[in-house]
Amino acid sequence: MVRRTAEPYKIKSVETLAMLSYDERKEALIKAGYNTFLIDSADVYIDLLTDSGTTAMSDAQWGALMTGDEAYAGSKSWKKLEETVREVYGYRYVLPTHQGRGAENILSQLKIKDGDFIPGNMYFTTTRAHQEMNGAKFVDVIIDEAHDPNVNHPFKGNIDLTKLQKVIDDVGAENIPYVCLAVTVNLAGGQPVSMENMKDVYSLCKSNGIDVFLDATRCVENAYFIKEREDGFADKKIAAILKEMLSYSDGCTMSGKKDCLVNIGGFLAMNDEELYIRSRELVVVYEGMPSYGGMAGRDMEAMAIGIREAVDDHYIEHRIQQVRHLGDQLIDAGIPIVLPIGGHAVFLDARKFLPHLKQEDFPAQALAAALYLDSGVRSMERGIISAGRNIETGENNTPKLELVRLTIPRRVYTNNHMNVVVDSIIDLFNKRDEICGLQMDYEPPTLRFFNARFSPLSKSGKLISKENKTMN
Ligand SMILES: *Cc1c(COP(=O)(O)O)cnc(C)c1O
Repeated sequence: MVRRTAEPYKIKSVETLAMLSYDERKEALIKAGYNTFLIDSADVYIDLLTDSGTTAMSDAQWGALMTGDEAYAGSKSWKKLEETVREVYGYRYVLPTHQGRGAENILSQLKIKDGDFIPGNMYFTTTRAHQEMNGAKFVDVIIDEAHDPNVNHPFKGNIDLTKLQKVIDDVGAENIPYVCLAVTVNLAGGQPVSMENMKDVYSLCKSNGIDVFLDATRCVENAYFIKEREDGFADKKIAAILKEMLSYSDGCTMSGKKDCLVNIGGFLAMNDEELYIRSRELVVVYEGMPSYGGMAGRDMEAMAIGIREAVDDHYIEHRIQQVRHLGDQLIDAGIPIVLPIGGHAVFLDARKFLPHLKQEDFPAQALAAALYLDSGVRSMERGIISAGRNIETGENNTPKLELVRLTIPRRVYTNNHMNVVVDSIIDLFNKRDEICGLQMDYEPPTLRFFNARFSPLSKSGKLISKENKTMN
């Protein structure tokens, strides 16, 4: 018998969830133009739109809010956060930022000159935007396996050292200010990087005089995969694995909204003193004094505690296992999902789920809408709508991946909530022939996925034909 496990926390404060009827959900969906981004959160039962800033804080964090030191300069709360980052992450210098992209802005401005190249393991939207705005070209050097949703590889986030070497040979190390290594890789589905790969990337970079900066946003999740999958780490503490990982880098940008277990905040950390001094100047310009950087004293208190709670072995094991609890049940039911299951989300393969729809009928968007209609579960399209149009031809970009992302917030939902999601998806799969495509009625010129509006393609105006279903 496989013994079942449960959440490593108990509930002290509850937030009542909206449980709308089928008709109310339908009305909400029509009002939102069949776009899950436009649904009011008050109309959502289980919200799997994102795991960014949606974390539930602990009683210790809520308690610490009252102790926040809101002094403009020299805040005690900043001292505490700075010490915590130094101790848990191991970097010499730390600067606070309002969130991850604040740190990306400062690092990119200081390190990049026009015409530079930044190799990385798949891009992240804001990270690449800052690199490009400062004149660099991003070069993807992730292993090929990362681009195939059907390949099961334990460390699908790894950098391909041959590709990295080729970029160095082609453009010259002097035009590569740093390699941007994300652990785990969000856009590849939360896929981890192995310790061996981090070590190899670091030594290749150092022998060429190139720095390595981590996007450490999801670094604790990465540490868990190393413990689980890489030889020699099974008996090590997550905190020790994390520290070793970060030792193969010169610094990091961090979004506190993910693996620091808070709703807002971030930091930039590094070992180089000169870079620290120059960064401190820019923190004043863009974020605030270097003793708060856009965060309130209370936010820094909560973040200092969240950083330690995140490296608790029981916390991170449950976090990853909960994502798997959702994904494994879908696999067992024959639902097509991206493999292997990553650290923060499960991705439905909408092409395989709805083979009767053409990509121009927006299968992932249609599936996300159908899921909301069926059970009030909010997910997100990651396919042709998110990919936008080709700037030169005006044609739709047609990405290989047409996915629906189910992102699990940290410590917010129980495994029972995951079961509700599973049941709804299985029901939809069983009547998938009835799910029709969408047409786009309004298309914003940029980042269209946020505000686009749709309506069902079928004449009846129904997304799924069974109209009499209520949620419970
Ligand atoms: C969220 C995220 C960021 C940006 O952080 P913000 O706090 O949203 O600015 C950067 N990289 C990755 C991998 C992320 O998931």
